[in-house]
Amino acid sequence: MPSLRKVQVGKRPEGWKMIQRPTGVCRFTKVTLALVGVFGCGFAPPVERYDLAIAGVTLIDGNGGPPRQDVSVYVRDGRIAAVADARQQRTAETVVDGAGKYLVPGLIDAHAHPFPVEESFPEFVRHGVTSILIPGCSVCSPENLARARALSTSGELAAPRVFHTSQHFTMEGRHPVKTYPSPDWVEGRTVYFLREQGDAAGAVEAVADQPIVGIKLTIEDGPVPPLVEMIPVERVREVVEAAHERGLEVFAHVSSVKGLRVAEAGGVDHLLHFVGLDIDWARDAAMIDRLRQRDPSWVTTLMVDKALLYPLHPQWLEALEASGVADADEILRLQASRSAGRSLEVLEQLYPGRRPTLEGILGPQVEDLRGLHDRGFSLVVGTDTANRFIFPGRSVHEEMEILALGFEPSEILPMATRNAAAMLGALDELGTLEVGKRADMVLLEADPLEDIRNVRRIGGVWRDGQLLFAAESSRP
Ligand SMILES: [Zn+2]
Repeated sequence: MPSLRKVQVGKRPEGWKMIQRPTGVCRFTKVTLALVGVFGCGFAPPVERYDLAIAGVTLIDGNGGPPRQDVSVYVRDGRIAAVADARQQRTAETVVDGAGKYLVPGLIDAHAHPFPVEESFPEFVRHGVTSILIPGCSVCSPENLARARALSTSGELAAPRVFHTSQHFTMEGRHPVKTYPSPDWVEGRTVYFLREQGDAAGAVEAVADQPIVGIKLTIEDGPVPPLVEMIPVERVREVVEAAHERGLEVFAHVSSVKGLRVAEAGGVDHLLHFVGLDIDWARDAAMIDRLRQRDPSWVTTLMVDKALLYPLHPQWLEALEASGVADADEILRLQASRSAGRSLEVLEQLYPGRRPTLEGILGPQVEDLRGLHDRGFSLVVGTDTANRFIFPGRSVHEEMEILALGFEPSEILPMATRNAAAMLGALDELGTLEVGKRADMVLLEADPLEDIRNVRRIGGVWRDGQLLFAAESSRP
């Protein structure tokens, strides 16, 4: 991928100067001037030192409230140490001029399959994604996940934080092992089969030593016919009980209302997709209500449906090439792998009667998500990259743009930041830009609250206060 060359690790663009201001001497405030008058310079209050300042920026902290204009955000030891009025002069080793720009929390893709990570990690980062959740996959062996975690913290390349669930829990002959056959599915390494009643606890025990955020449980009868059997609600309940016993939450994969009913009845904690679901608010009201009581997070993955529309929209393919996420060869390969005709067939099976356009297919999906949001569900941005036509990092921007069919930008941003961090159990550390939290930040050249597409206009990306990417346009 040619775009990888643009990624800079730990490099400071020329315009972002090291500014050493005098410390410990007279500060020019009314108080210190008064003190100087009485005691001389030596009694000025101690001056705080910071590693990094984003000065004079508009701060959008991720909580969904109004932005704070003309503030400076100070970072020390990888964490946000202070947020202050930009007129207050403070000392920082590196000062980035944030005037006219917007600072948002690092984005989180809460449904990502990033392998091979050497290619995807820098792509996430240059699109402002500083954390990802890997919810199992055919190559998600404990070793591969450990390698992804290690590379993520090695400093060798620009990389997001890596969170992951356990390997898939399912049954033999079911989704995804039967529906997506691959030699990579190996029992006890990338998948755990529930074979007989009572064995869920053993499977939970077998995965619990990995640093997982929870158990991945697959409840699906297949994406399209021929369907397989869905795992029965009794087995779901068993997994949930065993997981809860071990202090772990259960992240369920469902892709139909039928699957959702099983998930709800089985007591799962979170949902990893909003795909193939067509909620009938009258018919499903009681079930949705019971689910809501459990306070689940719901990952959107609308990109799965947009990916089906890609072969029907040559102009989208051109945009991919222009943005540098795919070259001409890769686009040809993608086109060969999924024809427009097959796309239409699958869309008709999933969403009978809907027009095969973005609004036609996804308008009703976003309307359902709006309904869930208004009933108090916590929605979380996730993409299901790297399925066909879903690109690491870029697809997070696309996901947010699809959500704009039914949400304000001020509602969408928290879904990709605060809500995601809460689902991952990491809200104490990540998800908003507040004092004490890790300095995972994205500097934008234009206001994302005016138009969510402005999230594409990235100036710089920091993780733990370390600059991982700076756009050409930010370099004078
Ligand atoms: Zn997935």
